[in-house]
Amino acid sequence: MKGDALILVVEDNEANQLLARAVLELEGFTVEVAGSAVEAREALRDGAPALILMDIQLPGEDGLSLTRALKADPATAAIPVVALTAHAMTGDREVALEAGCAGYIAKPIDTRTFGFEVRQFLARAAARTGEDHTLVAS
Ligand code: MN
Repeated sequence: MKGDALILVVEDNEANQLLARAVLELEGFTVEVAGSAVEAREALRDGAPALILMDIQLPGEDGLSLTRALKADPATAAIPVVALTAHAMTGDREVALEAGCAGYIAKPIDTRTFGFEVRQFLARAAARTGEDHTLVAS
């Protein structure tokens, strides 16, 4: 299993930050946490993570707006973004996909399946590399 891929977790809730970090680090990932869109942009200036886990509801600029901006920027468009959405908010999921998210993971996260779900999104993104021409400007 590929271990040390960097995952950027954009999440403002401290309990959720700690839980996501703990599970992902146990899985062998390197984790960076950003508590806001501003912090996420700062983290992205240091280099591209393998995957971004994106809370939708953030203070200030929300996760959907940030995702749209990242997808519109050639420097970050290829980074897969997975939305973290609350169970009840099914409407959030459609909007997340429309904003450019590769999919979503329900919150609160299920610690038994979270690592597996993240690995699946990484594998899907890797399989697309080289055959994805959607990044070409139209
Ligand atoms: Mn939040």
